Amino acid sequence: HFTNAALLARRHAAVARGVGQAHEIFVQKARNAELWDVEGRRYIDFAGGIAVLNTGHLHAGVVAAVKAQLDLYTHTCFQVVAYEPYVEVAERLNTLAPGAFAKKTLLLTTGAEAVENAIKIARAHTGRPGVIAFTGGYHGRTNMTLGLTGKVAPYKIGFGPFPGEVYHALFSNALHGVSVQDALHSVELLFKNDIEPQRVAAFILEPVQGEGGFYIAPPEFISGLKALADRYGILLIADEVQTGAGRTGTWFACEQWPVAPDLITTAKSLAGGFPLAGVVGRAEVMDAPAPGGLGGTYAGSPVACAAALAVIEAFEQEKLLARSQDMGAQLVRGLKDMAAKVPAIGDVRGLGAMVAIELFEAGDKARPDADLTKKVVAEAARRGLILLSCGTYGNVVRILVPLTASNELLDEGLAILADSFAAVA
Ligand code: PMP
Repeated sequence: HFTNAALLARRHAAVARGVGQAHEIFVQKARNAELWDVEGRRYIDFAGGIAVLNTGHLHAGVVAAVKAQLDLYTHTCFQVVAYEPYVEVAERLNTLAPGAFAKKTLLLTTGAEAVENAIKIARAHTGRPGVIAFTGGYHGRTNMTLGLTGKVAPYKIGFGPFPGEVYHALFSNALHGVSVQDALHSVELLFKNDIEPQRVAAFILEPVQGEGGFYIAPPEFISGLKALADRYGILLIADEVQTGAGRTGTWFACEQWPVAPDLITTAKSLAGGFPLAGVVGRAEVMDAPAPGGLGGTYAGSPVACAAALAVIEAFEQEKLLARSQDMGAQLVRGLKDMAAKVPAIGDVRGLGAMVAIELFEAGDKARPDADLTKKVVAEAARRGLILLSCGTYGNVVRILVPLTASNELLDEGLAILADSFAAVA
C-alpha cells in the first residue's frame, strides 16, 4: 500500500539530504540476488548493498545462526561480560589472514571504525604520527577516515578541518597515466617535501580501490611499497572493507599480494548483512595499545558474530571462493562481448567477482563519460537491474552481485545491461 513516490516524498521531508540514494526505490523484500520494491516490481541485485551480500540476501545459514543467537543473548558488551562467538570469529580471521606470523583480531561495527582503529594501533605500535594514503582511496566518513580518503567530492566537501599528519601519494593507475614508478616516486617526494619516513607509521591502501573506481593495485606497486616500508620501519595496512570476505576470489584480496600486510581491515560481507568489522594483523602490532585502549559498546555484537561464523561456514560448504573466481570470469567474458558492440566501454576489469566497466566518450580514454554512466545505471534500474557507479571520474559501473547468484541470473542481469546501453548510448 506504499508507493515509491509517496515514500520518497516522506523521505525527503524527514531525512537529511546529505544521505544519498542511488535509486528511487523502496524495498519490500529480498532473497539471495533479487529484491522486490513496495510496488511489487522485481529487481536483480548487482549492488549487494555495496559489497555486503557476498552470501546473498537472507542466506539460510546466516538467518538460522542469527535466530539461534536471538534465543540466547543479544548484548552484554564484550568488554563487560565476554562471549565465545567473538573469540571464534577472531580465531577464524587470524587463520584466514595471510602471513606466516602470529595474528590477533579486534572486532568493531563499521568499516570506518575498523580503519580508525587500524591507524590507532599502527601509531601505538610505531610511536609515529604520520600516515600515507593514496589518491582515489576511500576509507570512510568519520573525521580520520575522511582525512585518509583521497576523493574530495562528495565525501569531504564542507567537513574539514581533517586530522594532521595524513598525506596522499599517487595510486598506481595505468589507465589514467600513473605508472607503478610514478606512484612509488610520489611516495619518495612526500619523504622529501612533507614528512621524513622515520615519522611515518603506516601506508594504507585498498587492494582494489572500491569507491575510487575498481582499480587493481599492481603487484609491483605493492612490492615497491613493502620495500619502502621495510627500509623505514613503516607498517602496511590493507583496507579490505570492500575487497574482503571472498569478493576477489580469495578470502582477503591481499592473499594475492606478493607480500602480506601487517594489518587488514574487514567489514561489509563479513557478517552477511549484519554490522560487523574487524582489524586483523601481526600479534605484536595488535597488542600495542594498552588494555582499555580499544573497544566499543556494540563492537563485535554477538548477533553479528553469529552471522559472520555462518558466512565463513557458507564459504566452505558452498565453495564460494571458487565460485567468486568463476563468476568473475563469466562476468568479464560477458562484459568484453558487450564492449565489442558498445564503443563507450573502454575498459573491462576484475579481480575475482569484483568486476567493473569504465565508460568514455566514443571510447576515448581522455574523456571519461560520467553522464552516460548515470544514464545507463538509471535505465538498467528501470529495466529491473540494480547497479552502482563509482570512480574518481564517476564513469565506472561496478558489479558486486552475491556469489550465490545463479549463472542464469547473471546472464539475465548482463542482458539488461546490454539493452540499457542500446537504449541510452
Ligand atoms: N573502506 C573501504 C575500502 C570501503 O569501501 C568502505 C565503505 N564503502 C569503508 C572503508 C567504510 O565502511 P563503512 O561504510 O562500513 O564505515
